[in-house]
Amino acid sequence: MNNKLVLVLNCGSSSLKFAVINADNGGEIMSGLAECFNLPEARIKWKMAGTKKSTSLPPYSAHSAAISFIVEEIIKKEAGLTEQFVAVGHRIVHGGERFTESVIIDDHVLEGIEQCSSLAPLHNPAHALGIRAAQVAFPALPQVAVFDTAFHQTMPAKAFMYALPYHLYKEYSIRRYGMHGTSNLFVTHEAAKILNKPVDDLNVICAHLGNGASVTAIKKGQSVDTSMGLTPLDGLVMGTRCGDLDPSIIEYLITRLGYSIEGVMEILQKQSGLLGISGISSDFREIIAGYEQGSKRATLAIDMFIYRLAKYIASYAVPLGHIDAIIFTGGIGENSPLVRSKVLELLTIFGYQVDGEKNKAAILGNQGIITIAGSPIAMVIPTNEEWVIAQDSAKLVSNQSLSL
Ligand code: ADP
Repeated sequence: MNNKLVLVLNCGSSSLKFAVINADNGGEIMSGLAECFNLPEARIKWKMAGTKKSTSLPPYSAHSAAISFIVEEIIKKEAGLTEQFVAVGHRIVHGGERFTESVIIDDHVLEGIEQCSSLAPLHNPAHALGIRAAQVAFPALPQVAVFDTAFHQTMPAKAFMYALPYHLYKEYSIRRYGMHGTSNLFVTHEAAKILNKPVDDLNVICAHLGNGASVTAIKKGQSVDTSMGLTPLDGLVMGTRCGDLDPSIIEYLITRLGYSIEGVMEILQKQSGLLGISGISSDFREIIAGYEQGSKRATLAIDMFIYRLAKYIASYAVPLGHIDAIIFTGGIGENSPLVRSKVLELLTIFGYQVDGEKNKAAILGNQGIITIAGSPIAMVIPTNEEWVIAQDSAKLVSNQSLSL
């Protein structure tokens, strides 16, 4: 029987993540990362069948060279896979209001993705570069765009509008869009299976806690509010991003402290969050190590991360009314019993009681409910955005397998 394989690409400006996924069962055939684009040390690493490899790419390589290497050297030569591919699926960060679901990429769609660049200047131009390079490398394969923002297009205006002059929304599309939608969709469907409830009857709060972190209120399977905004800078305390902020701080930094707007954005995006508070790292494992060694600033960073997350979760009782489950996912959500138990402690007003053993066991890809019987439910579900991208891609294209 033929597998339906999808090459999933996540193209950034200086790197490209890739994976070959079996769309039928989510099986990962290989995955890897090409990085340091446009630099002398451009390189690529990948893993397949339990073996990890890496090599340098020609100096100053970027998307095209990386994609050619993936196709010719890894997929064709090393893996011997030339058939069974049905599509290339691209993760696209921003689809604006135009893209409410995944689509097959044509010139019109590519133009739309480029038009959304003003909303995601760090991401969408790189996605467009990656799509063009993939079109050259895979002329016979349909390319599919899967948008991080699409899942949140069901939010009502009262949730997605900023209280700014209305014309800024009408003329410039300035509003909350939200990210991590692909992850939210996946874990919501998994939660429905665990709770044995139809997705369209399920109310959950999804805390996706990775380097970027967001929390989303999902009512009857649809996003009704989320913490990320126009861009992924809004909301929770993140690895290096500040999240919620009084906008006047920006004016203060510029007029009183002499920062340029670029300097301010560098602070807010790259020097804030867990890194800025702890002074240790943006990596949660290192913050936990600092906390265990008694670092006051690491402890403060964790406290702030948890406090803000718990406040957001509590506030989502407003749009949801009834909450079937809180879902923890992403690198921190899937691996930190400490964060989960501390967040749920702050939510005792709702009655959450953690099962210490189950919470401890839900790490390294183990999923499941982490609260005691009789408590409202919280659970851990490892996310799998690549599988959603592969499934959407396979669904959209013909079932006929094509040769590369
Ligand atoms: P990204 O947003 O880049 O996809 P991930 O979802 O991979 O990020 O999450 C990365 C975060 O998860 C990092 O802060 C990392 O330290 C954290 N993390 C990974 N493993 C653990 C662990 N065992 N305990 C706590 N945090 C962890």
